[in-house]
Amino acid sequence: MFKTANNEQVTQRTLRQSITYVGIGLHNGKNVSMTVHPAEAGSGIHFLRKDVPMGEGLIPARWYNVVDTSLSTAIGNEYGFRVDTVEHLMAALSGCGVDNALIELDGPEVPIMDGSSHPFVSMIERIGTVDQDSPRHAIWIQRPIEVRDGDKYAILMPSDMPRITVEIDFEHEAIGTQILSVEMINEAFHHQVSRARTFGFAHQIEALRKQGLARGGSLRNAILVDGDRIINEEGLRFNDEFVRHKILDAFGDLALAGVPIMAHYYGRKPGHELNSKLMTQMFEDRSSWSYTTVNDFEALVGTQGPHSEEVRTNFEKSADGRS
Ligand SMILES: [Zn+2]
Repeated sequence: MFKTANNEQVTQRTLRQSITYVGIGLHNGKNVSMTVHPAEAGSGIHFLRKDVPMGEGLIPARWYNVVDTSLSTAIGNEYGFRVDTVEHLMAALSGCGVDNALIELDGPEVPIMDGSSHPFVSMIERIGTVDQDSPRHAIWIQRPIEVRDGDKYAILMPSDMPRITVEIDFEHEAIGTQILSVEMINEAFHHQVSRARTFGFAHQIEALRKQGLARGGSLRNAILVDGDRIINEEGLRFNDEFVRHKILDAFGDLALAGVPIMAHYYGRKPGHELNSKLMTQMFEDRSSWSYTTVNDFEALVGTQGPHSEEVRTNFEKSADGRS
């Protein structure tokens, strides 16, 4: 996500060239063609709907544009146009250190691909990214920020490393209780998180389809759980693929802050709605964080310490379940 080598200026990055993805939308079930273009330093990530009247399709990928979090994260603009299921692509861009991009699509939903961020990441890695002549900024959390909803909660805590910990607890025996903590630096996102797929439950499929949702969902782009069984013939990509996907979702939702958040995110049974509330809370509670550059953050908290090596070894051990 960002470099930690000594004295190296951490600059913003964009793609070396445009990348086109074609696929089906998870919820609307329609084919969409999406091209991710390089963009100028300081511009951030924007979506642009090409299938709506000219001048009405631009949607900045920012927390204040979130319009729906019922199953995935959707952002929208003042003309009523929206883009659904942005989180897996946002996670991929953030994980690959892409700060600036313009994403054109000819439909209302980001293609679901295989249900993870991996297809996005692998193309970005193949095409490559370029450094831009501008420092990368970050939000540095200095006091905890917390949102709760019953037994669910999400907290941003001060930390010398960006880290995401998620705890899930499902009645379905195939999932059960899972907890995982990942330090989001270097290529941790690629190796530990990006391949984890979204998941759904057999008993909910019919109800979702009646609401016009999950129309594009299939065993090609989601794990289907039925009680204690995984329906997909190929099985899981990680023993704890479910909690890894929740980390992926949280990382994608946090990317809507517009810059990386230097904090430890701890989520218990988190979802897109809770993550969106957390972003709102963070921006309202302006005294709990400062806006800095990644370089200044690293210089001030002393990111190069032995601590990070120890933590890295621990979570590499925790990745043993990888298939
Ligand atoms: Zn997801």
